[in-house]
Amino acid sequence: MNQQVNDRFDPQPVDARWQKRWAETGMYRTPTEPGKRKYYCLDFFPYPSGAGLSVGHGRNYVPTDVISRYRRMRGDAVLHPMGWDAFGLPAENEAIKRGIHPCETTTQYAANYRRQMTAIGCSYDWEREINSSDPAYYRWTQQLFLLLYQRGLAYRAIGQQWWCSTCKTVLANEQVESDGTCWRCHQPVGKRDLEQWYFRISAYADELLSALQTVDWPEHIVAMQRNWIGRSEGVEFEMQVVGREERFSVYTTRPDTVYGMTFAVLAPEHTLLDSIVSPDQRQAVKVYCEQSVRRSEVDRQQSGRDGVFTGAYAVNPVNGAHVPVYVADYVLASYGGGAIMAVPAHDQRDFDFAVRHGIPVPVVIAPPGWEGDGLEQAYTEPGTMVHSGPWDGMPSEEAKGRIVDWMEQEGIGRRTVNYRMRDWLISRQRYWGTPVPIVYCDRCGTVPVPESDLPVLLPHIDEWVPGQDGRSPLANVPEFVQATCPQCGGPARRETDTMDGFACSSWYFLRFVSPDYAEGPFDPDALAGWGAPDLYVGGAEHAVMHLLYARFWTKVMADAGLIPFREPFPVLYSQGVMHARDAETGEVRRMSKSAGNVVTPDEVAAAHGADALRVYLLFMAPFENNTVWEEEGIVGARRFLERVWRLANAVVGGRTARGPGDGPEDTELRRIVHRTIQRVTEDIEAFKFNTGIAALMECLNALVGYHSANGVDGQLTEATRTFLLLLAPFAPHIAEELWQRMGGAYSIHQQPWPSWEGAAVTRETVTLVVQVDGRVRDRVDVPVGMPEADARELALACKGAQRHVDGHTVARVVYVPGRLINIVTA
Ligand SMILES: [Zn+2]
Ligand SMILES: [Zn+2]
Repeated sequence: MNQQVNDRFDPQPVDARWQKRWAETGMYRTPTEPGKRKYYCLDFFPYPSGAGLSVGHGRNYVPTDVISRYRRMRGDAVLHPMGWDAFGLPAENEAIKRGIHPCETTTQYAANYRRQMTAIGCSYDWEREINSSDPAYYRWTQQLFLLLYQRGLAYRAIGQQWWCSTCKTVLANEQVESDGTCWRCHQPVGKRDLEQWYFRISAYADELLSALQTVDWPEHIVAMQRNWIGRSEGVEFEMQVVGREERFSVYTTRPDTVYGMTFAVLAPEHTLLDSIVSPDQRQAVKVYCEQSVRRSEVDRQQSGRDGVFTGAYAVNPVNGAHVPVYVADYVLASYGGGAIMAVPAHDQRDFDFAVRHGIPVPVVIAPPGWEGDGLEQAYTEPGTMVHSGPWDGMPSEEAKGRIVDWMEQEGIGRRTVNYRMRDWLISRQRYWGTPVPIVYCDRCGTVPVPESDLPVLLPHIDEWVPGQDGRSPLANVPEFVQATCPQCGGPARRETDTMDGFACSSWYFLRFVSPDYAEGPFDPDALAGWGAPDLYVGGAEHAVMHLLYARFWTKVMADAGLIPFREPFPVLYSQGVMHARDAETGEVRRMSKSAGNVVTPDEVAAAHGADALRVYLLFMAPFENNTVWEEEGIVGARRFLERVWRLANAVVGGRTARGPGDGPEDTELRRIVHRTIQRVTEDIEAFKFNTGIAALMECLNALVGYHSANGVDGQLTEATRTFLLLLAPFAPHIAEELWQRMGGAYSIHQQPWPSWEGAAVTRETVTLVVQVDGRVRDRVDVPVGMPEADARELALACKGAQRHVDGHTVARVVYVPGRLINIVTA
């Protein structure tokens, strides 16, 4: 062993040797019995892209690996699995681009991800690897679809749907970006009428919102979900169309402004529009509605000023006023019934519209100090009620509730809660997804495929690229379409749409507890043992889709008595975004394939080793912060590991016969080591990996200093072993190698995590003799190793010294650390 002692740190052979050994010895196999100290550590389910992993992904996977390794050393039963979100639009679009069947690309890319993850030392239990495009997996996605169907939570409806003509598919609201473009291809999207499958997520809106209080998530992600659900309380009331039978219902969150209504607006999709429009306005309304259907929702909401008078009037039920009814597309059919009362003085879009159309703008909420003048813009803050009949003079915030009470008493209106969140549209006219397990029979109608007939297999077909007709390519496969009705045995047609990929990722965390279980989506006993993930880590881009859908499915399964918890991810952490500098311009941009600035973990590991990459990723910034990849940083991380290498090899080479306790104990060395154990432990627990590494760096300095002062002895040997144990979760390869060289048993990753002693962490004290002009005047207790400036201040402040220094000038102070301090007066 000694011939290796002074060699240079060459990380590649070290990485390769231990990665191989860990795999061979099944180091990261999950214990079958989780027991009391179980720890389920989960990363977001990645879709394997052809671009492979960038170092940015390492900001997700390395921290969870540190936690997993640390937990194993703490003696916990750790489940740290990985799998592939292989079905869905991203994978299919990439396969289209490359002209390769998605079944092949998915397999290739997953293998590449797995190789890269192994190369950076991720300690996943690969025996539990899952793939959502595997029939053994999606059979259960289909069964869970049937569960939703049986519970009335999956339904089919015709509706106007977002349609991406580039991806040739329907999109959920969540998949349309705020600029009205498709979330995958970033092309503008339009709308069309289609019969689609929906999941009734709105049935869980209240709990999805209120239970956010129970989860330990980053505040910004909670806020995004809360806004997405968009709960508002208000009042719904009917407006009678003047001179006609028809009435329409409006919803408002501002009942305090109801006396200021000077017009009403219907969405172009409103079903009543056709019957109330006056003959002379019919043509103008028709043209307007045709135009607005082609505009995106976002576009519609932003340009709030155009619209057309319908020729009809409606009655404001609180004061009997007749107000004109307009059609305008800033009112969405999907919100509050598609009709609004317009109060231009107190709503900016209504204000803009009124100014454009010459409609009066009467103030009904007076701003503080208001003198009856007109408004420059809408006043949307609270104020005092005016021109509001019996409510005049009342603070508007108080009037809000009182007016609703009164409207309910009078039978004019009713309190209503509204949500911005719509039901989840899951039909995709695409090949690469889980087939919807439904058949259509002329005699029986919509019939679910019996569970015993699952899976409905996705056939392997060559013509899988979506055509121009907007139908799923499966519609062109007669063997797939033709089915037998499970109810009457007659001929039936199979549903050819596949499910949104987010259905697959809504339950995958349950599959990992028993990935090969054949009797159901998961083994109930295994799930009882492992429970929900104890830690979930991933990027903020999934704040409203995946994280909301998985919560919804979890609640449905809990209500069906299938699982013992209602929140899938009680603890969530979200890493910052990795940026990179452009080599030529120096411009900092998000690291991405499209920006052309991707740094791969492979190239970094090849140049500097997996451990240097890991240490740099952890040390570069606090976990949740956005960061910039800098070449100097990786070099710095490597230098740190080289110093560790030299120290440990020096300890191996210069080992003396003495064990710990042979010489006088160095309390300072002991203090530093125990303090480091405490700091690293607390920092890992708190997700403060950067300061944990800083603590290791400081500790290394102390060990190197001790080595140069005292050479190798038993105390340094023990301290170095402890140091390696603390380093192991962060830099597993070098720690394993040096541990072995120091004579430690395989594997360092199975050693108990060191513990610290409280007494050792607090500095020990010594009694310092205080002299004035060479004569002992006092004694003070000070910590070992107190710096001169502190000792001097303390000595000058003590009573014995003050009495004798009083009136004299201090010429100088002599400090003998740990023994005495002598104040010399002039
Ligand atoms: Zn698209
Ligand atoms: Zn039938």
